Amino acid sequence: MQKGNISVQTENIFPIIKKFLYSDHEIFLRELISNAVDATTKLKALAARGEAKGDMGDITIEVLIEEEASRLIIRDKGIGMTEEEVKKYLNQVAFSSAQEFLEKYKDESSIIGNFGLGFYSSFMVADKVEVVTRSYQEGARGVTWTCEGDPEYTLAENDKENRGTDVILYINEENKEFLQKNRIEQLLDKYCKFLPVPIQFGTKTEYITEGEGDDAKEKEIEVDNIINNISPAWTKQPTDLKEEDYKAFYQELYPFSAPPLFWIHLNIDYPFHLTGILYFPKLGNNFEMQKNKIQLYSNQVYVTDNVKDIVPEFLTLLHGVIDSPDIPLNVSRSYLQADTNVRKITGYITKKVADKLSELYKNDKEGFESKWNDVGVFVKYGLISDEKFYERALPFTLVKNVNGDYATIEAYKEKVKANQTDKYDKIVLLYTNSPDGHHSFIEAAQAEGYDVLVMDNVIDNHFMQQLEYKMQGITFVRVDSDTVDNLVQKDEKKESVLSEEQQKTVKEIFEKAVTEAGGTVVLKALSPESQPVAITRPEFLRRMKEMQALQGNQFGEFPDSFNVVVNSNHPLVAGKLLRKKSEEGKAELAEYLYKLALLDQGMLRGSNLTAFIKKSLDFLK
Ligand code: ADP
Repeated sequence: MQKGNISVQTENIFPIIKKFLYSDHEIFLRELISNAVDATTKLKALAARGEAKGDMGDITIEVLIEEEASRLIIRDKGIGMTEEEVKKYLNQVAFSSAQEFLEKYKDESSIIGNFGLGFYSSFMVADKVEVVTRSYQEGARGVTWTCEGDPEYTLAENDKENRGTDVILYINEENKEFLQKNRIEQLLDKYCKFLPVPIQFGTKTEYITEGEGDDAKEKEIEVDNIINNISPAWTKQPTDLKEEDYKAFYQELYPFSAPPLFWIHLNIDYPFHLTGILYFPKLGNNFEMQKNKIQLYSNQVYVTDNVKDIVPEFLTLLHGVIDSPDIPLNVSRSYLQADTNVRKITGYITKKVADKLSELYKNDKEGFESKWNDVGVFVKYGLISDEKFYERALPFTLVKNVNGDYATIEAYKEKVKANQTDKYDKIVLLYTNSPDGHHSFIEAAQAEGYDVLVMDNVIDNHFMQQLEYKMQGITFVRVDSDTVDNLVQKDEKKESVLSEEQQKTVKEIFEKAVTEAGGTVVLKALSPESQPVAITRPEFLRRMKEMQALQGNQFGEFPDSFNVVVNSNHPLVAGKLLRKKSEEGKAELAEYLYKLALLDQGMLRGSNLTAFIKKSLDFLK
C-alpha cells in the first residue's frame, strides 16, 4: 500500500469544501453520477472505435445505500482508472480544479447550479471516500484510493473483477439524510431524470398479467428500478416526434398539469449548441404561479430551474427544457448575463418564439384567437419588456372587443378611426376592464356607434400604456371615463332641450342629492336614450390611482373623485323632474336617479344599499 499527500504546497481545502454551499450539499450526487455517466459514455465511444475489446455488457449505473455501514455507493461499469490515472485524475486534475474553483467562488453562492466542484464535492457529505476502480484496459489491475477528508490518501491494489468504478461515500453524521431512500430518490428525480445512461436505484414492484381470458392472473414481480429516461424528447429529431410525444413529455416534466397549448422544438448547432423544447402553458390570469419553470440542462445533466439570466424575463413564463453545453456554468450570475453566448442564445430563443407565434397566427387565425387568452398574456408581457419582441410581435398582437371579435391592433385602429378620433386627432380606443360592471356604459357607447375593447387582464394596464407610448396617435379611454363624450361633442354637439335657467335649477337639485364626497355634478346634453344619471371618472386621475395601487400604495393619496353626469335631455330629467310640484318630490326623484347611478357602479353599499332597496319596495307597494 502507498501513502501520499494529494497536495503539499497549498492550503488544506477540505474544511472549506465541508462548509461550502451548505444548503446545496445535495449537488454532490449529481457530480458523482455525471462522472459515472462520462466514464460510461467514454467506454461506449472507445467500443465504437474498436479500441475497447469485447462485449460492453450491461452498462447500468447503480446507486446503493448501505444504511448500517453509513455508506452510499455510486457504481459504474465505465472505463475505470489505472493506478496512474487515479493519481493523475483524482489527486491532480480533480484536486486542482476543485481548489481553483473554491478560490474563485468561496464568497459567491450564486454560481449556476454550483457547477465546478466535481469529484471533491463528495467531501461535503462524507468523512471518508473510497474509489474502487479497474480500468477497461486488458490486464489492468484494480486499485483502491482512500481519502479521509484531509490531504492524505492511500492507494492499494484490489481484486475487483469487473471493469468500472465504485465511489463509496462514508456519509457523516450531519448528512445522514443522504442515507434515506426517499431523499436519494428525490435527488435522482431532480438531477438525473434524463441522463443518457440507465441508472438503477433498488427494485420496484410491477404487476403483470399471466395467462389469457378466464385464466388471466395478476402477478407481482420485482424489477430493477430505473429512474431515468435516457432519451428524452428534446434529444430527438422533431421529425421523429408526434403531437402525443410532445404532450407526454410535458406530463413527464410537470405531472398533473393542464396540457400545453403548443411548443417549439429548439435545435441549433451553430454558433452554439442548443436543444430543447419550450412549451406554452395555459396561463390564464394567474401567471405569477407559472413563472420560472424552465429547466436548464447541460448534456442531459440537470443544472437549475432558475433560468432568469439566460432567457429574457417574459420567456420565463414558458415551460420546458433548454439543454446547452455552451452556457458557462461555473460562473456567477452577473457574469452570465454579460456572456456573449448567453446573449446570442437569448436572441435566438426570442426570435424562435416570435416566429412560431407568427406562423401559428398566419396558418390558423381562429385557432390562434381561441388561444389568445393564454398566449396574449405572454405576448403582452414580451411586448412591454423586450424592444425586439415588440417589433416582431405587433403584427400578431390581438385585441378583443366586448362582442368577442378579435383584430390585430393595426386593423382595429383602422376599423374605429373614422368614428373614434378625438379633437386632438388621436384615435380613441374605448375599453372596459369589467364588462359586467360597465354594462350600462358599454351599451351607451355602442348606442353611439362606438366599439369597446375588453382589457381585463392584470397586465393590460401596462400593455395599453406601452402601446400609447410606442404608437403615438392613440389613446385608451375607459368606457366609464368622463372623456368619452368628447367624442360625441366633436361632430354633433347635441343641444340641450332645457333653457339656461332650467339647467341651473336641475343642477341645484342634483347637487343637494349628491351626498358622497368627491362627486361633482355635470350637466350634459346627451341622447334621450342614454342614462339619466351616470357616474364617470376623470381618466387621468383614475390612471394615477391605478399606478399608485400597483406600486403598493393601496389607499392612494388621491381621494376618490367622480362626476355625476346628469343627462339634461333625458325625459325623466327634462320632463318629469321639472314638472314635479313640490320641492320634496323633486329632491326625491333626483336622489333616486343618483342612487341608481351609484348602484350601477357598485358604489352603493351597506346601509345605503339597504335603505335604497327598502325605498324601492315601498315604492312598488
Ligand atoms: P470533471 O468530471 O469535471 O473532469 P472531476 O473532479 O469530477 O472533474 O473528475 C476528475 C477526473 O477524474 C475526471 O475527468 C475523470 O478522468 C476521473 N473520474 C472521476 N470519476 C470517474 C469515474 N467514475 N470513472 C472514471 N474516471 C473518473
